[in-house]
Amino acid sequence: MSILYRSDAARAAGWASYFARHAPDLDFRIWPHAGDLKEVEYLIAWQAPPEFLTELPNLKVLFSSGAGIDHVDLSAVPAHIPLVRMVEPGIINGMVEYVSLAVLALHRDFFDYVAQKAAGVWNPLEVPPASARTIGVMGMGSLGCAVLERLAAFGFRLRGWNRSPRAMDGVEIFAGADQLQPFLEGCDVLVCLLPLTPATHGILDREVFSVLPKGAALINVGRGPHLVDADLLAALDSGHLSHAVLDVTDPEPLPSGHPFWAHPRVFVTPHVASMTQPETAAPILLENIRRHQRGEALQGRIDPARGY
Ligand code: NAP
Repeated sequence: MSILYRSDAARAAGWASYFARHAPDLDFRIWPHAGDLKEVEYLIAWQAPPEFLTELPNLKVLFSSGAGIDHVDLSAVPAHIPLVRMVEPGIINGMVEYVSLAVLALHRDFFDYVAQKAAGVWNPLEVPPASARTIGVMGMGSLGCAVLERLAAFGFRLRGWNRSPRAMDGVEIFAGADQLQPFLEGCDVLVCLLPLTPATHGILDREVFSVLPKGAALINVGRGPHLVDADLLAALDSGHLSHAVLDVTDPEPLPSGHPFWAHPRVFVTPHVASMTQPETAAPILLENIRRHQRGEALQGRIDPARGY
C-alpha cells in the first residue's frame, strides 16, 4: 500500500520519519521518487495537476497538504475519490497567533508607531480599551472559531459571520448574505477567514468596505482572490479604511511594483499565517488513512458541490 507525498519538499523528511516510525506497513514515497504510480493509493499534495491524476489509476483518497482545497481543480478529480483537507492543531495554532498579533498591532497602533519612528516622531496616541473595539470574523470554521475564542481573552467585542448560523458564547452571530451588512456595520477590524469558492470570490470589495465604520481595518488571511485590490486601495486612499494586513495576495508572490508593496498602510506577509506542521499533521493524516482502511468516515472531507 503506497502513499505519495508531493508537497513542500522542505518538510518531506518530517512526514517520512513519522510514517516510518508509526506505519511501517505503509510505503511512504516522496516526489519525484514516486516509483510505479499504479501502486499509489493515497496522495498528499498541494497542487494536483489534472494530467498527473490520470497517471494514478488506483488512487483512493486525495489529501490536501493545506487547510484549503481551492488550488485543486475539483472537476478533474474523479467523483469516487474523496478529497480531504488538512484540519490539524499546527495550522489552527499558527492562525490564532497570526490573527491575534495583527489584531493587537492594529488595536495598539503599532503600524502608526512604525511610521512615527521612521519619521522620528514621539506622539503618544490614545489607547481605547479592548472592550471598545469590535472584531468581526468572516467564516466561522475551524480557524475562525479558534481565532474568536482566543480574541475573547483580550476582552474585545466579537462578532462572526457565517453561511449557516452558529452559536458561540460571547460572539454576536450573523448568518447568510442578508446579514452581511448588519455584521459589517459594527466591525472595527474585519478578519477574512472564508474558504475561496465562487460565492466568496471578490467578496472584499467596495460595497463591503463602504459599510464598515470609518477608520476600520482589514485582515485578509483567507485567499488573495477574496479581495478586490483596487477597491481596497481606493478605500484606504479616501481615508475610509485605516490599515490592511494581507497575508494572501493574488497572484502569489505579489509582483514587484504592485501598489501594495509601497503603500504606507498596507502590511504584507508572504502567505505565512499558518502552515501545516508535520509533527501535528502526520498523526491526523495517518488516522484518516486508518479510517479509510476500516471503511469509516474521513475527517476534513470536502463537499465538491459546496467547494470547501
Ligand atoms: P472551514 O472549517 O471549512 O470553515 C469555513 C467556514 O466558512 C465555514 O464555517 C463556512 O460556513 C463558512 N463559509 C463558507 N462559505 C461561506 C459563505 N459564502 N458565506 C459565509 N460563510 C461561508 O475552513 P477553515 O479551516 O476555517 O479555513 C478557512 C480558510 O482559511 C481556508 O479555506 C483557507 O482559504 C484559509 N487559510 C489560510 C491560511 C494562511 O496561511 N493564510 C492557512 C490556512 C487556511 P458553514 O459553517 O455554513 O459551512
